[in-house]
Amino acid sequence: MTPEEKKNKLEKIAREIREFKGLDIAKNCIKAVPGEGDPDAKIMFIGEAPGAEENLQGRPFVGRSGQLLRQTITESNIKIDKVFITNIVKYRPPENRDPSLEEIEACKDWLDLQIQIIEPATIVTLGRFSMAKFLPDAKISIVHGKGQEIVFQDKIYFLVTMYHPAYAIRGTSNMTEFKKDFANLRSMAINALKLRRC
Ligand code: URA
Repeated sequence: MTPEEKKNKLEKIAREIREFKGLDIAKNCIKAVPGEGDPDAKIMFIGEAPGAEENLQGRPFVGRSGQLLRQTITESNIKIDKVFITNIVKYRPPENRDPSLEEIEACKDWLDLQIQIIEPATIVTLGRFSMAKFLPDAKISIVHGKGQEIVFQDKIYFLVTMYHPAYAIRGTSNMTEFKKDFANLRSMAINALKLRRC
């Protein structure tokens, strides 16, 4: 698929997400947050669900934890406009509660399609909800910062499981761990791309 074809398909999904009214959080949101970035990204970041600022802007990770995420990606020598950033759930759960199973399930096919279209060599999960999509039995305190090959939708991806940036904001030692984990991301992503091209 050419980048132009990928872009058109992603825009179609984004339109569907914005028009969907099958969940209360979809009916009540200010703006849906489909995700954004390079349609041909080699790295895709998957968070949990939009927060208050994302709900206002319709863009992922633009609030406080989003600024930390974007800054940390840049500090890792990864170009922010070359990645794709999205979430498990595309609408804000009220009071920032955890997304429900019903909400995750309702948004699942869109995320699966986003992955299928972009086909990034590396998928980075942020926090336990997106990690559980690929590794339901893993513990984030054990696998954070680590990478592994996975098969998803019959394709091989390199999966890196990171803490959520909101966790990093909760304390200095959390922040140190979060930043340390990101320090290895670029080299893991380069290796993943080499393996993909073999
Ligand atoms: N937290 C998330 O998981 N996603 C966002 O888009 C913003 C905050």
